[in-house]
Amino acid sequence: MSNTLHDALFAPLATRETVLIERPGAAAVTGADFYRMARGAAGALISLGLQPGDRIAVQAPKSVEFLALYAGAVMAGVIFLPLNTAYTPAEVRYFVEDAGARLLVCDPKDAARLAEIASGAGAELHTLDGTGGGTLVDLFASDLARVVPRGPDDRAAFLYTSGTTGRSKGAMLTHDNLLSNAETLAEAWKFTDGDVLLHALPVFHTHGLFVATNVILATGGAMILLPKFDPDAVLAALPRATTMMGVPTFYTRLLDDPRFTRDLAGHMRLFVSGSAPLLAATHEAFEARTGHRILERYGMTETNMNTSNPYAGDRRAGTVGPPLPGVELRVMGPDGPLPSGEIGVIEVRGRNVFKGYWNMPEKTAEELRPDGWFITGDLGVQSEDGYVTIVGRGKDLIISGGLNVYPKEVEEAIDALPGVTESAVIGVPHPDFGEAVVAVVVADGTPDVAGPLAERLAKFKQPKHVSFVDELPRNTMGKVQKAALRETYKGLFAAT
Ligand code: AMP
Repeated sequence: MSNTLHDALFAPLATRETVLIERPGAAAVTGADFYRMARGAAGALISLGLQPGDRIAVQAPKSVEFLALYAGAVMAGVIFLPLNTAYTPAEVRYFVEDAGARLLVCDPKDAARLAEIASGAGAELHTLDGTGGGTLVDLFASDLARVVPRGPDDRAAFLYTSGTTGRSKGAMLTHDNLLSNAETLAEAWKFTDGDVLLHALPVFHTHGLFVATNVILATGGAMILLPKFDPDAVLAALPRATTMMGVPTFYTRLLDDPRFTRDLAGHMRLFVSGSAPLLAATHEAFEARTGHRILERYGMTETNMNTSNPYAGDRRAGTVGPPLPGVELRVMGPDGPLPSGEIGVIEVRGRNVFKGYWNMPEKTAEELRPDGWFITGDLGVQSEDGYVTIVGRGKDLIISGGLNVYPKEVEEAIDALPGVTESAVIGVPHPDFGEAVVAVVVADGTPDVAGPLAERLAKFKQPKHVSFVDELPRNTMGKVQKAALRETYKGLFAAT
């Protein structure tokens, strides 16, 4: 039965002589090439003494070999743990130690500074660069005697959450979590073996590693693998692509480029956005420029993808669409599920939902209910016909003078003002109100914000302070770093 990642996604590649991965400036890789490489990677891991269930931590640049190492780890029964390339050695130490990784794979340029961390954690160190070189790749020649048999409930990967509050947690994802979601998305978004996906996302995150890669493997399509989002490279590759998956910043950056025209995008079948909110204004500007309505979906490390706007149907700007087939979703208030139209915490349940946080039973118990519902921490509202709108993270909710302020409502009001590009609304400590609403705004000049908002929003929602900045702090997935903003502005109303 094809119910593991190897049997369903990788094994069919063994005999595939068509191109699986294209990359600028290097030879194309067929399915069979990739499968051989993955077997080699699996053989390398076994030759290093790794046993099924062991963890490997990988902080390496994006490459075909990186993806082959993911596949090879799965084939060796080893748990794959990708790490953001921006993490510092001190952060890497935490992940390697927390996961008890037996092998750390890093960029050769970082090997010297990570050697001590690896040996201190009892892990071996190998290297993998962005062009298929490194000490681990030298071992890829060792073939694999046999693919280690796995079941659907075996763990395939640990993905650490971004850890904006407290310690980062290792989400344990099984074969079934990943495979069921890949199959659901492939069907929902009508992928076929004729598709070519423009892949400019990082591969240490669920979006680039699982959503993008697994969907292509599940359908026999191909991908153009770009090391990162570079507008020149993306525009050059676009004519050969049929689909693209991106974070919202990809789309705003394309819209900023006059070379991105209706003609260039005309042949495309689908543009997908996720990982952070896509402004309704971006959605509309994209449609005006290209004629395409971006398909926005919503997911997270722990749950894979939960909701998606429809492929054939109404793609509603500012919403993340109804729950995907096989995913149950409810909006919870303090006393239980809420009716449509009311804001609460989004919970989801289904085969997509992870198996808990590694070594953190108490955190797992706080967020994963015994009956399988996962408390996402996102605040949202569902329309009568099932469409979900995310109004922010629970921890970003502002309580000012005892009243709830949903940042998104204030941000939308500010973003609609003439001259404003975008905004982030946060709560900072205030001696009278507990928290005060503060708006950080990117605009042409310094337009009046307070005046027009006074007519549109209740007094308690109006910002007590507006700051203009050149750009908002964002991480690589395009998420605005509200924790960093709260830190910057925390002293604004300090009592003197
Ligand atoms: P991560 O685990 O890094 O993928 O982050 C997941 C979080 O990103 C979710 O809990 C949401 O807060 C946010 N997110 C993902 N997709 C969207 C979206 N389409 N709109 C708004 N927020 C999103």
